Amino acid sequence: MAGKLYLCATPIGNLSDITLRCLEVLESVDLIAAEDTRHTLKLLNHFEITKPLTSYYEHNRKEKGYMLADEMLEGKNIALVSDAGTPAISDPGEDLVAICIEKGIDVVPVPGCVAAINALIGSGMPTGRFCFEGFLSVNKQSRREHLEAIADETRTMIFYEAPHKLLATLKDFEKVFGGDRKISLCRELTKIHEEYVRLTVSEAIAKYEETPPKGEFVLVVSGAEEKIEDFSSLSISDHVEMYIKEGLSEKDAMKAVAKDRGIKKSDIYAEYKLLR
Ligand code: SAM
Repeated sequence: MAGKLYLCATPIGNLSDITLRCLEVLESVDLIAAEDTRHTLKLLNHFEITKPLTSYYEHNRKEKGYMLADEMLEGKNIALVSDAGTPAISDPGEDLVAICIEKGIDVVPVPGCVAAINALIGSGMPTGRFCFEGFLSVNKQSRREHLEAIADETRTMIFYEAPHKLLATLKDFEKVFGGDRKISLCRELTKIHEEYVRLTVSEAIAKYEETPPKGEFVLVVSGAEEKIEDFSSLSISDHVEMYIKEGLSEKDAMKAVAKDRGIKKSDIYAEYKLLR
């Protein structure tokens, strides 16, 4: 009978966050595949678990994935752990899950910490609807394209970021989302110096220009204000002012109002200028 793949979530800083079920699974499997075997060895030593370890990481994920699948098909149960948190969330793992599904191997998630969810629930932002955006690309153009595609996103957005890229990312947020957008910068989650810094994007830039950021971050960014789609309750003047407040020039605001209302720009211009 084929073995199974267990996706074992491990702590993101505080070792007490490991679950009883995760410990049971780690004790029972035949092999543990880890992103960084030295890092995982420390965790296993702490909980006095002795198991064979093998590496499964970014640069061997394809070929190693098939090798691990073969071992499961031969009957071995394998636990996959990442350096922190839940495997397959912004770390290798999704490929292995896909390979197992392709080969008919059972995949069993063993839930626990996810930095994104930790950050979200402590951020003070709406949690009813949110989207996870992971790490932004290091490529400047891809980053901008990614952000521009979500410029009007109304759900709370969650990003992962490393300290050396934080300022550049905040500056990109400022360009695309605007400096007044609320952001919660969450670091050292679950650790002694856990920190939630709740500011606007511009305030965050000022803070980290003064004091360079340290540690890994989760950035929780408030969604864009819902756009009013039914403009009949707005006067033409208020409608134009709404766009000016959002940052459009008077000319572009009138153009946008004409488009929203399906009337000629000259009519908007005449009425707006008449009322002023
Ligand atoms: N699989 C992990 C999870 O479940 O959240 C995420 C792995 S990803 C490679 C690492 C990123 O997660 C970091 O760059 C940071 O953005 C975030 N992260 C992980 N642990 C964190 C912590 N204790 N405090 C703040 N952010 C953390």
